[in-house]
Amino acid sequence: MSESIKVIVEKCIGCGLCVKVCPFSAITIVNKKAIIDLSKCNLCGACKEACKFEAIAIFKPKIEAVDFSSYKDVWVFIEQERGKIAGVSYELLGKARDLAKDLRGGVVAVLLGHDIKRKNQELIQRGADKIICVDKPELDNFISENYANIISHLIVKYKPEIFLAGATTCGRSLVSRIAVTIKTGLTADCTGLDIDKEKRLLIQTRPAFGGNIMAQIITPNYRPQMATVRHKVMKELEPDAKRKGEVIEEIIDGRFIDGRVKFIEFIQEEVAKVNLADADIIVSGGRGLQEGKNFQLIRDLADAIGGAVGSSRSAVDSGWISYSHQVGQTGRTVAPKLYIACGISGQIQHLVGMQSSRVIVAINKDPDAPIFRVANYGIVGDLFQIVPLLIKKFKEGSKK
Ligand SMILES: Cc1cc2nc3c(=O)[nH]c(=O)nc-3n(C[C@H](O)[C@H](O)[C@H](O)COP(=O)(O)OP(=O)(O)OC[C@H]3O[C@@H](n4cnc5c(N)ncnc54)[C@H](O)[C@@H]3O)c2cc1C
Repeated sequence: MSESIKVIVEKCIGCGLCVKVCPFSAITIVNKKAIIDLSKCNLCGACKEACKFEAIAIFKPKIEAVDFSSYKDVWVFIEQERGKIAGVSYELLGKARDLAKDLRGGVVAVLLGHDIKRKNQELIQRGADKIICVDKPELDNFISENYANIISHLIVKYKPEIFLAGATTCGRSLVSRIAVTIKTGLTADCTGLDIDKEKRLLIQTRPAFGGNIMAQIITPNYRPQMATVRHKVMKELEPDAKRKGEVIEEIIDGRFIDGRVKFIEFIQEEVAKVNLADADIIVSGGRGLQEGKNFQLIRDLADAIGGAVGSSRSAVDSGWISYSHQVGQTGRTVAPKLYIACGISGQIQHLVGMQSSRVIVAINKDPDAPIFRVANYGIVGDLFQIVPLLIKKFKEGSKK
């Protein structure tokens, strides 16, 4: 039996308390009785808790206790394109080390491709204790079906406790297939990962309800616990040439290769005009700039210190700057060495895209602006006075 919800008609008096608390507007009152629209309801239970008449029942299937003691290690899918490993994979190896420490397990890098074995040592230096490598001509190009078939097989064979991948186009299409194949939970686009040591649970934090809350999601009844994470949210480790690790070369036969899908051609994506993700310094402007033409101040400051120009969504929505500059939940995630936020309030949707920056400087005339909670240096004042002074100082400095 799957989970279901029911109104106990005899007990319902049509008071409407459940209507008020339902976050999905799934309940209406008809003839003094609550009616639940099951296509909208996600069984969150808010209505059941609010009902004073015990008129709502939620039925949950009994889940047999499963012994997860044979599941161990934190696996990281190593995404590569023509032998170049994606930055997010290094970042996940770094995070996996923290998680594995809490679980007293190891970090395993899962590397698929052709002529790819040469990368094994590099991955060990970047934090892997073990590499499971499948090197096969058919894996030269990423084909989601083939990669998912092979990794699902490896998961069943080795039983990892946690499986992480980048929230990239490849990572997303891959892990959703794996999760369905091996029947486990998956949390997409996490901005934080932690361990509940007592229960050995991965606490997966991600924005929910349009970014208005940060939800913590767990996978208590299935293994592995799977999550995807965006580029630049976690920090990669410096390579350590002294690290040692084990390499397992898996021989995989042709039954895992899906003959229906063929690689035809690789077309390079048009490179984005602004490469915010790789910039060491970003100067961002927000609604505090008041007008589009004032973005010139941000450009001038960025030029003076060799930085790229970023922005809040409000500035993009106002038509002051193009979307490719937007930082945040629905824009780019960045982690430069220096992030200067000018006239940006620091709403959560902006913060999730830049809070991993090494040093954050905020300029805002409101001393209570939330951006100051994440800033290392805060300047309370009018950006129209402060930014020109900074430009002048930086320019003087560069002449010396
Ligand atoms: C689903 C969803 C996704 C979103 N995605 C993003 C996203 O990706 N990125 C993003 O940025 N936002 C995003 N938002 C919007 C976000 O909630 C905020 O509305 C937005 O970040 C606010 O932009 P802002 O800080 O520029 O503007 P405001 O919040 O209006 O802040 C302007 C700030 O400027 C200051 N100021 C004004 N004048 C001056 C001055 N002369 N000198 C100094 N300071 C001054 C004010 O004190 C204020 O703090 C999203 C929202 C939703 C619902």
